[in-house]
This record gives sequence, structure tokens and C-alpha cells, in this order.
Amino acid sequence: MFGKIRKAFGNFAEDVVRESHAWKIQCTSCGRQRSLASVGGIRYGGFGTSYTLGMCSQCGGFRMLRIYKPEKPPASPSA
Ligand SMILES: [Zn+2]
Repeated sequence: MFGKIRKAFGNFAEDVVRESHAWKIQCTSCGRQRSLASVGGIRYGGFGTSYTLGMCSQCGGFRMLRIYKPEKPPASPSA
């Protein structure tokens, strides 16, 4: 029973990581952009854009950071 739960949770965790790599976090001051996962953030199943306050390593201060998910390119050119 616990094995099943752990397996399900493992899949969910992988999903969360994959989702978090799809999200970007961008400094609204200098435009520096990174993947949300690379800054230790996670986001799952959300839509739209949100903002958070955080350090930007490029302009070196607290900035408003935009968290958003870029549009995926179409899987097939004919779509
Ligand atoms: Zn910046």
C-alpha cells in the first residue's frame, strides 16, 4: 500500500519538476530570464502570469519578477 502511494507520489513529483522547467521567471527591471526550476521554484498546473518579489542576480537587487509559462511551439507545422 505504501509502495503504491510512494510510486504515485514519485510520478507526481516528476510531473511537478517537468512543469516547473516549462515556467520562466523574468526580472521586470533588466529582463533577465531563467527557468523557474533553476531558481528552486516550483509551479504546477497553473495558468497565466504571476509576480513575485525576489533577488535578481543580474541587476543585484530586489525586483518584481514575472513568472509565466511561454507558449509551446506547435508540435506539428500543419497543426
Ligand atoms: Zn534584473
